[in-house]
Amino acid sequence: MNKREFIKYSSYLVGGTILGNKVSASVPFFSERQKSRRKNGRLTLRFTPYTLQLRHTFTLATSSRTTTPGMLTEIEYDGLTGYGEASMPPYLGESQESAGKFLSLLNLSQFTDPFLLVDILDYVENVMPGNYAAKASIDIAMHDLIGKLVGEPFYRLFGLNRAKAPLTSFTIGLDSPDIIRQKVAEAEPYKILKVKLGRDNDREMVEVVRSLTDKPLCVDVNQGWKDRAYAIEMANWLKEKGVVFLEQPMPKEMKDDIAFLTQKSPMPVIGDEAIQNVGDLIKNRDVYSGINIKLMKCGGLNAAMKMINVARAFNMKVMIGCMTETSCAVTAAAQLSPLVDWCDLDGNLLISNDPFEGLTITEGKVTLPDRPGIGVRKIA
Ligand code: MG
Repeated sequence: MNKREFIKYSSYLVGGTILGNKVSASVPFFSERQKSRRKNGRLTLRFTPYTLQLRHTFTLATSSRTTTPGMLTEIEYDGLTGYGEASMPPYLGESQESAGKFLSLLNLSQFTDPFLLVDILDYVENVMPGNYAAKASIDIAMHDLIGKLVGEPFYRLFGLNRAKAPLTSFTIGLDSPDIIRQKVAEAEPYKILKVKLGRDNDREMVEVVRSLTDKPLCVDVNQGWKDRAYAIEMANWLKEKGVVFLEQPMPKEMKDDIAFLTQKSPMPVIGDEAIQNVGDLIKNRDVYSGINIKLMKCGGLNAAMKMINVARAFNMKVMIGCMTETSCAVTAAAQLSPLVDWCDLDGNLLISNDPFEGLTITEGKVTLPDRPGIGVRKIA
């Protein structure tokens, strides 16, 4: 398939919202090779549990851990392999066992045409509710495979300019001043830092980081504040400290309090734990001023694209984030980075056993690899 043929095809693939160029009727739609692929090829799914080893104990307001369970997927077609990944931090409720069970139920070999992505993802969606990380691992592998079949990086198939990726942040967890110093040093290539707050030493944490760097900060409270007056006081104090946005300041159930804070806050208030998918986004459109999209929450690139479009229709800010993940899922998410206000795509740097290489950081921005599909290479 040449590029013009793919443009017509991809306008269907992405719901006609991204690419919709007209194709001359004189261009043959399928080459002989494509026809034989469609006739003979079948999708083959493989999956392997993979435990991510964290470089530092990861401490949030509500928990801490040293590993994250994951699942690596591969979808093969006509000699090419698309890579995908599920990362399952405990709070999402998925596990290697649940993902293995879900993936075992899938019969992808019924599909002989990988370009029928909408049909394939609809099938996966309807096999069982939930299982968003497991579904994301299929969505990512399919996007990788399609890009490889066409020979183009997926951001190009979305019609996106990789030079327009925004700054991406590096996360500093809740830690002792010594570890914070070490992490601020590790974050040297980044121009914005994300500080995790939500315990009783928030001001001290911010002061330690501020004593080491004057880079802009963003703050993620992970639902840690329980009182609206305190939240407003902190938002004003953080503004003075050069914080640019506030993420999930209070428990997601405290909707009225968060909506009140959003009205009074001197900076955008972003929903993360509260907003897993498009349905949550619609329900919370008057509660937050922006959303943090993660492939593992929403089920992959297809769902993430829908969320970006809906959020923009509500005039909301959009960031794209990640869990602790390998470069596979992080680089997949980064394909959408030119569409968002902020990226938080450092999950691969938080692990010590990344089996892939993918995106790199230049001048604090995501640099997408110039490789087909989601752009990753397996190195282990
Ligand atoms: Mg968050």
